[in-house]
Amino acid sequence: MLVATCIRKGLRLKAHRVVVVREEEDVIVAEIERIKQRRLRCSGCGGEVKHTAGRRPLRRWRDLRLRDRPLVLASQPYRVRCPRCGGRVERVPWAARWARVTTALARAVALLARKLSWAEVAAHFGLDWKTVAAIVREAAVAGLKLRRWRPLHVLGIDEVSRAKGQRYLTLVYDLERGCLVGAGDGRTRETIDAFFRWLGPRRARAIRVVCCDMWDPYVDAVRTHLPQATLVFDRFHLGQHLNRAVDTVRRWAWRQLTGAERPVVKRTRWLWLKNPWNLKPKVVSPDVVKKGIARETSR
Ligand SMILES: [Zn+2]
Repeated sequence: MLVATCIRKGLRLKAHRVVVVREEEDVIVAEIERIKQRRLRCSGCGGEVKHTAGRRPLRRWRDLRLRDRPLVLASQPYRVRCPRCGGRVERVPWAARWARVTTALARAVALLARKLSWAEVAAHFGLDWKTVAAIVREAAVAGLKLRRWRPLHVLGIDEVSRAKGQRYLTLVYDLERGCLVGAGDGRTRETIDAFFRWLGPRRARAIRVVCCDMWDPYVDAVRTHLPQATLVFDRFHLGQHLNRAVDTVRRWAWRQLTGAERPVVKRTRWLWLKNPWNLKPKVVSPDVVKKGIARETSR
């Protein structure tokens, strides 16, 4: 089988054929032409068109590799006169409308980007980082459009910080299926309100449980939009809050003590977390410290 035939079959061309395959610097270029009299399709509606009206300048699309070298498709698309859309450009079967890479390459990039970083994917395919980012964004949009809406029962709301805590993102998950259902900039009431506006009251009614951080804007928003749902605070965040509370009490106690008493309280963080009845006699129980504080403050 000739290389041209191989490429034509790989691209499943019906109205086009590969006229020549040539080497050009470090890439292989396949020039594609329309097969005379075959009907082209309109890029607007995808329907077949009878009439053409001249051609557009030569365009190139990056395709997968042909052995060790990238394959580039080159073609001069026809202008078509569509009875439904008017003057348009033909729809090429190997690439999306504005894409500079073929559908096959975009699919491979999107697939690999799920495992590797964008920079690694870019290096693997010899593309620049921005092209990879654009492909991934397109794939995500297409994926969201295709996804069938399934009722949400268990919602997870979480925040992630970017740029060392300077910027926040709010992420909303479907915890039953373990997938992302929404994302927004910031972690304010407005961010989470925007998600609930998009969700709408009808879909919100199906939500039974919400798991989120003890962050007031989230908690308030959930109580307003989902009055029927049970709020659950996850263990990690709950732990964080408890630790913070213990530290606050410890710091308060520290301030109450005189200089002589302070060494006793030093490095007692874990002591404060213990139940008093579990404490061994040789260590000073928080009660003793508390009594000391009481004595100090009553003076
Ligand atoms: Zn059309």
